[in-house]
Amino acid sequence: MDVVILLGAPGAGKGTQAPLLADRLGIPVVATGDLFRAAVRDGTPLGLEARRFMDAGRLVPDDITVRLLLERLGRPDAADGVILDGFPRTGVQAKALDEALAERDSAVCAAVLVEVPEEELVRRMSGRWICRAAGHPYHEVSSPPRVPGICDLDGSELYQRTDDRPDTIRARLAQQLGSLDEVLEHYRGSGVLRDVDGLRPIMDVATAVADAVVAAGLAPRTGTTGGAAR
Ligand code: AMP
Repeated sequence: MDVVILLGAPGAGKGTQAPLLADRLGIPVVATGDLFRAAVRDGTPLGLEARRFMDAGRLVPDDITVRLLLERLGRPDAADGVILDGFPRTGVQAKALDEALAERDSAVCAAVLVEVPEEELVRRMSGRWICRAAGHPYHEVSSPPRVPGICDLDGSELYQRTDDRPDTIRARLAQQLGSLDEVLEHYRGSGVLRDVDGLRPIMDVATAVADAVVAAGLAPRTGTTGGAAR
């Protein structure tokens, strides 16, 4: 099982880069934020528990998060490998992932950090809007919809995630940048960490991310679609 990890602060562009990399590698993206939002939408017990933390701009506790992620990795479409977006976010999660992979005689192939300065993160996140139907992302400044408040792709209403409002953003960043450091340390220690400049245009970042993964020894699969499953 090939596991590639995309790392970066919230707003660094991991959610944009992950599907692009999935298309190149032919393995699906697994985004814990999406898994949590689906659980909240479905009203599952795990979703109800997670929601309290998400709405407050805090990380969901490690035990809940690891359980959710490992359940997802056990599904058939993840058998060849996955690109992880938004996981791990703490040292405890990184260790739990290493242990689960070791049980399958596997390990993380590459952890790629998309680097963006903090002031740019706040600017990006406070303008982010998402469509109700499918989560298509927009930005007030860099990628506005054709009609304000309406998704170009499916016509559904756009909304701002509770945790993307400016007051929540700073609290979220302070906590999450701290625990991102733990995760970076973890992968620096195991020698799989690479970093790319996340301020460059989207397709340049995509090329740099793909180059970093190939440099880590992972070859793209042919004849698969990847990308769609989250
Ligand atoms: P994201 O879409 O990745 O920004 O995640 C949205 C929210 O889901 C985060 O602010 C956290 O509350 C929660 N979340 C997602 N991934 C994790 C994780 N690996 N550990 C803890 N909480 C997470």
